[in-house]
Amino acid sequence: MVMRNTLPTIDNLIQRGLYLVNRCVLCCCQNESLGHLFFQCSYAAQVWSSIASWLQVCSFTSLEMVINWFMSCVSGKGMASNRKRIGLLATLYYIWKERNGRIFNGLHHPADCIILLITFALKLSLWFVIELLRGF
Ligand SMILES: [Zn+2]
Repeated sequence: MVMRNTLPTIDNLIQRGLYLVNRCVLCCCQNESLGHLFFQCSYAAQVWSSIASWLQVCSFTSLEMVINWFMSCVSGKGMASNRKRIGLLATLYYIWKERNGRIFNGLHHPADCIILLITFALKLSLWFVIELLRGF
């Protein structure tokens, strides 16, 4: 849905005819669009910066950058490629989850908390893959 820009971001909902005030709930400074929410937002940038450093990849600043990186750099089958793919998907998921938590539940987590959740999810999923390869 991110790659096709079909997530119900506020700008997409407005384009579908809903009357909404467009304001990003993560930074409260800019209008919410897919590009802003996942890449230009200061909150998302803080998350990407830490996760990219942890994964030893460049930080993402646009959807095109993510697509290009995903298609060319992580097509391998090794653990490093799996780690990067899972890291990318987990980061997108947790930014979207944080956005929804703020809108629908009034819950706010600092970026450091989301970064910890993503790294924990990465470690857990990689441990699971390793155990699968070992045959439990
Ligand atoms: Zn923002």
